[in-house]
Amino acid sequence: MKIPFIDLKQQYEQNKAEFHQAISRVLEATSFIMGPDVGELEKALSDYTGAKHAIACSSGTDALLLSLMALGIKPGDEVITTPFSFFATAEVICLLGGTPIFVDIDPMTYNLDPGKLEEKITSRTKAIIPVSLYGQCADMDEINEIAETNNIAVIEDACQSFGAEYKGKKSCNLSTIGCTSFFPSKPLGCYGDGGAVFTNDDLLAQKMRSMLVHGQSARYQHRYIGINGRIDTLQAAILNVKMKTFSQEVSERDRIAKRYTEGLRSAVDSDHVVTPKIKDDRTSVYGQYSIRVKDRDAFISYLNSKQIPTAVHYPIPMYKQEALAYLQIDPREYPVTEQVSQEIVSLPMSAFLTEEQQDYIIDAILSR
Ligand SMILES: *Cc1c(COP(=O)(O)O)cnc(C)c1O
Repeated sequence: MKIPFIDLKQQYEQNKAEFHQAISRVLEATSFIMGPDVGELEKALSDYTGAKHAIACSSGTDALLLSLMALGIKPGDEVITTPFSFFATAEVICLLGGTPIFVDIDPMTYNLDPGKLEEKITSRTKAIIPVSLYGQCADMDEINEIAETNNIAVIEDACQSFGAEYKGKKSCNLSTIGCTSFFPSKPLGCYGDGGAVFTNDDLLAQKMRSMLVHGQSARYQHRYIGINGRIDTLQAAILNVKMKTFSQEVSERDRIAKRYTEGLRSAVDSDHVVTPKIKDDRTSVYGQYSIRVKDRDAFISYLNSKQIPTAVHYPIPMYKQEALAYLQIDPREYPVTEQVSQEIVSLPMSAFLTEEQQDYIIDAILSR
């Protein structure tokens, strides 16, 4: 049985005619940059999340960068985040000359532990970037409260959690700014790079919208230092097609994830596997379905021998990355991250994983 890690082909096949129509429409109109599909996408994103402003941009990384630029992060500033995420979350802080300050993660959700947050705040702290990892929102209320007391902005890195809910509200609309990614393998993916920023703050929205076009206020007039951070019209057109079936896909992902958790129960009971735990007041879009095993290398080669693909998100914590060695951080400060990064492994996951494929994966794990 051939099981893709993420089944992008099935999703494409299902709406093939619509994708081709949308792409042709952009090509025929030659509206490659900032065509009408971009505005249409932004309207759909704003309606979906409830955020007043949704601004499409070139990637999740640029969404994070634009957020920090709009907040005025500069050399010497500190930005607090999690050490257990994709590198981009910390990278953007460093690009602006800021210093990433890491807070260890919660052993149950793998998200930034708000109980360890306050002790890291200093007079130089300007922002906090919690990551809603694997599609489950971080403890945004607790984080927002601490931020508010200290007059600090909160940027939700929602690159894996577009579509998730937290206490009845949508991810991306839970803090000062929300950032998401439309990288093909994310819950809502385009056919190249794309992303978006979300906010209810008019001034921040105006700044980010300007900064993604070189800080322009009017043609050839530049109010800010910005970037070329636009989304392609083609990618917006593809996303407009995908938005129509997105809610349905979110439900499918939820059903499939719960089926994994149910199917793997005996492996959990016998202490061989730890399945994802989602808090009662929120949902996950399962950007990844990630489990923990004690002997990860052996587990991965065993599944490989059964033609089951896996991935590790993420094997190396931020503070152990070569590029961040200059921070000289002691890993012993992050015992939970240390353990989880050695045990975590992601299983095939998409709205198009069939029951037959899933049963094959579950059986393989149980009969190990
Ligand atoms: C994917 C991802 C990013 C970066 O998004 P790109 O669109 O690839 O630039 C940032 N943070 C997290 C948590 C991600 O998963």
